[in-house]
Amino acid sequence: RVHNAIEDAKGHLRVFCRVRPLSEKELDMDEEVVRMVDNMKIELPRNGVFTFDGVFAAGRQEEVFEECKDLVQSTVDGHNVTIFAYGQTGAGKTYTLHGTPQEEGIAGRAISELFQILKRFQQSSNAARSFVVSASMFELYRNRLVDLLRRPEKRAKSPPCSPPCSPKLSLRSSESGLQVDNLAEEEVEDATQLKRLLSRGLAARTTAPNALNAESSRSHLIFTIKVTSTDGQNPLSGKLVLCDLGGSERLKKSEATGEHLKEAIEINRSLTALGDVIEAVAERKRQVPYRNHKLTQLLQDDWSGWGRKRFLLRYDPPGVGLEVEDDDHQLSVQHK
Ligand code: ADP
Ligand code: MG
Repeated sequence: RVHNAIEDAKGHLRVFCRVRPLSEKELDMDEEVVRMVDNMKIELPRNGVFTFDGVFAAGRQEEVFEECKDLVQSTVDGHNVTIFAYGQTGAGKTYTLHGTPQEEGIAGRAISELFQILKRFQQSSNAARSFVVSASMFELYRNRLVDLLRRPEKRAKSPPCSPPCSPKLSLRSSESGLQVDNLAEEEVEDATQLKRLLSRGLAARTTAPNALNAESSRSHLIFTIKVTSTDGQNPLSGKLVLCDLGGSERLKKSEATGEHLKEAIEINRSLTALGDVIEAVAERKRQVPYRNHKLTQLLQDDWSGWGRKRFLLRYDPPGVGLEVEDDDHQLSVQHK
């Protein structure tokens, strides 16, 4: 556990590849089929071999979540964690992050795990710490921010309010990082409440049919779970950000025209900006080009936590607390 804790604190960027089964339509088409070389490599016949931190081939939801499970603990420990799903429309991004009612995705499983961690924590000797969990959900649709927990059309039954009904979201930099102004952030008591909030947000997404997938998403969806806690002395605040990115399709293939073409171009522009940021982070460049797009500006706060003092708290083994300080990347570990 101690070793894991230190590994977590390093804030690695990890990339996994999930291979989904072919759909019936794809079985009829002459599609390039992915071959799994080993549990870290895949091969595309026309494009060669690609290496990842891991490949999920049979890929049950549970197996994918196992790989992310530790990140929920990191969030409780006061870290900012981001999980992206990237790929073409129909690749399985939403399935992986949000799943289906029968096959819960990472989000639902992370919610269950989070409240289990908090429950165990309350039962352990560290019980003096009290936690608050809150969540927000918005999409970035054609460079506009849309709050999914507070959309005007979802409030049709509420009495008319003087405009603006749902205040416009905007980006603002503040002392604590980049802030989305006017974003609804709801506090929740338990897993059921948080899952209900998640379903409500998902139902409010902007979707449009296209040639690849009837429910394709033309926006980026950002679901954030915030966990803050205090024991009276040391406040902690961590975030788990789940980012369901818009489809990265080649424009010709999706047969996009008119408005949909504009959406696709905007999505590609944002994904390019994201790719540039990831490359700079991976290569530990001094200058990370966050400012090139709203998407990367939005994630900047979640990615650039270094330099802040951090604490890691563990409930197991019982009674052993671990403190990790991050001071210019020099980690010092002490047993409390
Ligand atoms: P995306 O969000 O990337 O556009 P979806 O998550 O909507 O794609 O997946 C497209 C379709 O493929 C959905 O019907 C989904 O249920 C199915 N699917 C995706 N991944 C898997 C998987 N690993 N196993 C079984 N079905 C999957
Ligand atoms: Mg999707």
